[in-house]
Amino acid sequence: MIGAGAGLSTSAGFVYNGESFEKHFSDFGKKYGFKDMYSGGFYPYEISEEMWAYWSKFIFVNRYMDAPKPVYEQLLSWVKDKDYFVITTNVDHCFQKAGFDKNRLFYTQDDYGLFQCSEPCSDVTYENEEMVRNMVEQQKDMKIPKDLIPKCPKCGKPFTMNLRSQNSMT
Ligand SMILES: [Zn+2]
Repeated sequence: MIGAGAGLSTSAGFVYNGESFEKHFSDFGKKYGFKDMYSGGFYPYEISEEMWAYWSKFIFVNRYMDAPKPVYEQLLSWVKDKDYFVITTNVDHCFQKAGFDKNRLFYTQDDYGLFQCSEPCSDVTYENEEMVRNMVEQQKDMKIPKDLIPKCPKCGKPFTMNLRSQNSMT
């Protein structure tokens, strides 16, 4: 039985400040005055194009990029032939990315890799990898093009992250 919290991802090099922040978010930090990725998520961006420029990068770095250090792969090599089970509060999907068996994982339903309607008009969630990659690639001066603002295909309201803390249904 493996219990994992944020510390495991920190040791794999997923950190919200320091080098990783400087590398990916120094321009945002300079403009808005925050010094770590977490604070950047709480910044009250005035327009959606700015908010999504930040969030798409945040999601890309924390959800779709590989961890800088192979901590999860190492852990898997120790347990892969054993009858293991993992419980984690991490939302970065490092276990899945490292090749852990999905059936041997219990994780919270929060997932940076999913969007949902901000209304919400239904409880459907949408895989966001392509949307996120497009927003990251096409942003300029910390803004995404207006037509890339992700919207609910059912009602046209903006999407939001699939995070329990922001879920208006709970
Ligand atoms: Zn909707």
